[in-house]
Amino acid sequence: MFYVEGKVQPHCEFCRKPFKKNDLVYTDTMFTQIQHAKCFIYKPEFIKDKGTYEEIVNKYTEYKKSFIVSEKPITELMVVSSLRKEK
Ligand SMILES: [Zn+2]
Repeated sequence: MFYVEGKVQPHCEFCRKPFKKNDLVYTDTMFTQIQHAKCFIYKPEFIKDKGTYEEIVNKYTEYKKSFIVSEKPITELMVVSSLRKEK
C-alpha cells in the first residue's frame, strides 16, 4: 500500500492492482476487504456490497477517512514526493 498525506491507496488482494475510481468492486462479509468484481475469490453469498470503487468508498466512513479515490492510482513517483514531505 502507498501512503499519501495520511491516506492509503488500497489495492486488490488478488491481482495487486490499485483501485481506480470507476473499477467495479465487491466487499466481502468476512474480512471487509475490497476486491475487483472480476477478482472476487469467495462464493457469491459472501458479497457484502457492490458498486464502483468510488461508490463503495463514499458509502463507508471508515473507507472514506483513509482511502484515496482517484482516476489515476498513486504511482511510485508520488510516493517519493510524499516521503520527501515527511522530512
Ligand atoms: Zn483485482
